[in-house]
Amino acid sequence: MTAITTNRAEFLFAGKAEFTLQSKESLAHFTYKLTASKDGQMFFVALLGQDGKQYAGCIPADKRTEFRTTRRSLIRRDHRAIVALEWFLKHLDSPQVEVHHCGRCGRCGRKLTNPESITRGIGPECAGKATSTARAAVAPVQGSEPPPNYQTEADAESRAAWDAHDRLHGAA
Ligand SMILES: [Zn+2]
Repeated sequence: MTAITTNRAEFLFAGKAEFTLQSKESLAHFTYKLTASKDGQMFFVALLGQDGKQYAGCIPADKRTEFRTTRRSLIRRDHRAIVALEWFLKHLDSPQVEVHHCGRCGRCGRKLTNPESITRGIGPECAGKATSTARAAVAPVQGSEPPPNYQTEADAESRAAWDAHDRLHGAA
């Protein structure tokens, strides 16, 4: 476990970020994975724990302070891990919370080896890409609903993993 000491947002929204949040005060900690949908419009949130990986909800790419549950969410909204995450999304730079990654690049999942990459949670090749991809993803959906073809363009891999896209869309 290594603490992220530089740009936390860059790491968290890199696409495959796996991390643990720990409160410095209570020492309570929870582990999450934020996976970007292929179209870049959503981040799926899973809670990682002793029971394995549980789908919790999603974060819209254009409203990154908002965690949303969907009908497929397996974690209750008032679960401490969700309350903690919601608070953290609005206070990314809070010194009250430590962000630890598991030694893998938040974007591609490869093992991080150089010290600079370790402090940012993103490898040297991915460092520039993460930001530009995020910007590109946000641009077409600002302040609007997902486009009609949202469902068909949904990331097949994420769908299989979470099966959340169509439910979310249906609920909209
Ligand atoms: Zn990488």
